Amino acid sequence: FGVIADRVRAHAKRDPNHLALVDKTASVTYAQLDAMMDRVAAALKRDGIKPQQAIAICAYSSVHYAAIFLGALRAGVVVAPLAPGSTPEQLQGMLTDADAKILFTEEATGEAVKAAEELGIPRVSLDGSPVGKQLVDWVAPAGTTFKEVKPKPDWAFNIIYSSGTTGTPKGIVQPHKMRWAHVRRGGDAYQYGPGGTTILATPLYSNTTLVVFFPTIAWGGTVVLMPKFDAKGYLELAQKHRVTHTMLVPVQYSRIMAVPEFDSFDLSSFKFKFCTSAPFGAALKADILKRWPGGLVEFYGMTEGGGTCILEAHTYPNKLHTVGKPAEGHDIRLIDEHGKVVPQGEMGEVVGKSVSMMTGYHQQPGKTRDAEWYSPEGERFIRTGDVGRFDEDGFLTLMDRKKDMIISGGFNIYPSDLEAVMRQHAAVADVAVVGVPSDAWGETPVAYVVKKPGEPITEQALQDWFAHQVGKTQRLSAVHYIDELPRSAIGKVLKRELRDKHVAESK
Ligand code: ATP
Ligand code: MG
Repeated sequence: FGVIADRVRAHAKRDPNHLALVDKTASVTYAQLDAMMDRVAAALKRDGIKPQQAIAICAYSSVHYAAIFLGALRAGVVVAPLAPGSTPEQLQGMLTDADAKILFTEEATGEAVKAAEELGIPRVSLDGSPVGKQLVDWVAPAGTTFKEVKPKPDWAFNIIYSSGTTGTPKGIVQPHKMRWAHVRRGGDAYQYGPGGTTILATPLYSNTTLVVFFPTIAWGGTVVLMPKFDAKGYLELAQKHRVTHTMLVPVQYSRIMAVPEFDSFDLSSFKFKFCTSAPFGAALKADILKRWPGGLVEFYGMTEGGGTCILEAHTYPNKLHTVGKPAEGHDIRLIDEHGKVVPQGEMGEVVGKSVSMMTGYHQQPGKTRDAEWYSPEGERFIRTGDVGRFDEDGFLTLMDRKKDMIISGGFNIYPSDLEAVMRQHAAVADVAVVGVPSDAWGETPVAYVVKKPGEPITEQALQDWFAHQVGKTQRLSAVHYIDELPRSAIGKVLKRELRDKHVAESK
């Protein structure tokens, strides 16, 4: 078991001038980062914030954001990173749930500032705006040296609020040993190291980003932060910094691959590219393998941990329709509605167990129990709410989230099956199928389609074409054109918004 904050100190001693963090306006070396972490830890102590109490950060990615996160860890303090795009109620809920003693924030996250004000939580401003005490003024009087607090493996490292894709965000408590498991595995399998450079264009409040951020820092690499993603800007940054590692979500990959000048960028420095968080189309993976140097690795899992699958796409080009095999040390099973393991080859809800699992949902024992499944031998597994099936080689194919499955006239319909059929039509750029209430069938599928520009086909004609491609039970009750699918900040399609939209518009 290793301590990430201690590793920064070690890198600072060995190679003080090596760059640790870079953003639009600043770059800091390991020596500077180490000193910043000391100041943050000392200021937290001065404020009376004790190990295992929490602080919140609600901001866009920056060098300061990262330094505060790491500095808090040095003090044994728990970090609750909050999504700036959350609603005022969600922000109030998260600040209260985490019992945050202080909020680090910036002007652009006005709602978070208001929520903290109402709750009487002190604020520190990261961007020089008057939303709280200025960062320099907050750290200065506290002194510059700090002896790190030694965390225990079971101590909370951070509380990550789930994306809220399917409902209200839940506070997921990840212990130190869970983070360390990611760091160790990353170092072994993905060649992170002092010479590496990782570019991160997803937000720091998301586990998607943090599973790559911490290994990079723990192994002495450089992290380049891109707070606002744009595809061409990403390619320019990657080329300029000779980037070796990255994490992107599927919609970012598809935008990057569509950049007309893609092939003229020198991306030969890449060692590994990672992807997670949402369905990653096989055709897109194949295109990346062909045109973008370095390995391509897809992770399937959840912030709660337990059942991670890994697809090393460069090694298994014939398995691109799957999310790979259970990660080393992960025991993954598929269960039916009664909690029984399904026979080999059949579909079931994915449940998983490993060393990297959440402690539980913060202050929600009921929700935590609902998320657990116990094997006949009494071992604790975490339920994913996703439905999948193992093939004969042990690769997992994901169907859908259980909540998105449509039960129509007694038949189970998997939206992902219908989406795959719809994508075969030349006029379709993107699609999401959702189940909506139906008097006749209980639920019925409708499709929201993003049409390619200039394609003349009507909604009705597309619906008729579709009816010829599938069995009677899978026919769509409606096709709606939409300019863009609603997505969360991390690129997940928000299906509940589409269901609500259909219901509202068909009244
Ligand atoms: P909430 O639980 O609040 O609804 P969320 O489940 O979207 O939010 P995360 O933990 O960020 O929060 O995401 C985990 C989910 O993302 C998985 O359960 C799965 O549905 C989806 N997912 C993750 N990786 C992949 C992948 N490689 N392919 C398809 N889906 C994925
Ligand atoms: Mg979830």
